[in-house]
Amino acid sequence: MAMAWLWSGFDSRQVHNKNKMANDCIFCKIIKGEIPCTKIYENDKVIAFLDIVPVNPGHALIVSKEHFENIEDLPEGILFEIIKAAKKIAPVIIKAVGSNSYNLGVNNGKDAGQLVPHVHFHIMPRFENDGYKLWAGKKYAEGEMEKITEAIRKAL
Ligand code: AMP
Ligand code: ZN
Repeated sequence: MAMAWLWSGFDSRQVHNKNKMANDCIFCKIIKGEIPCTKIYENDKVIAFLDIVPVNPGHALIVSKEHFENIEDLPEGILFEIIKAAKKIAPVIIKAVGSNSYNLGVNNGKDAGQLVPHVHFHIMPRFENDGYKLWAGKKYAEGEMEKITEAIRKAL
């Protein structure tokens, strides 16, 4: 059953072979053809398939073919391939499901909600009154914004 593929106790540290695949990674298994997916696009660097728990119909994932955990690990060339693929397929996806907008999202890291530690971008078609809201903003404490800006600038 589809949901059974969601979690398989993967450990992204188990990257073991020259093609940068991880033993217990659900997306590596999809890429290797060990478990099925509803593939909508691929080239030599990326694959895109529908998410099995969609935010809305047509919700798709663009996944690097090699196993990298997150954006920091990803070579820039592959990041570019992911963005290029998103630009190509997102308009086609939303047209197919009768939407005219989409969110492009990445959950980068555990605390940001990344469940599958293999880099992937979400394309999420949106509809008027589909019930989703963007996250609410917080206020900075006095001086906090300037302090953070300074820390970031120094570190860059
Ligand atoms: P994230 O929280 O950004 O890591 O999102 C992982 C996404 O992968 C979730 O939206 C899941 O629904 C989706 N997912 C997990 N397993 C599969 C699978 N076998 N086929 C398609 N999508 C999957
Ligand atoms: Zn993987």
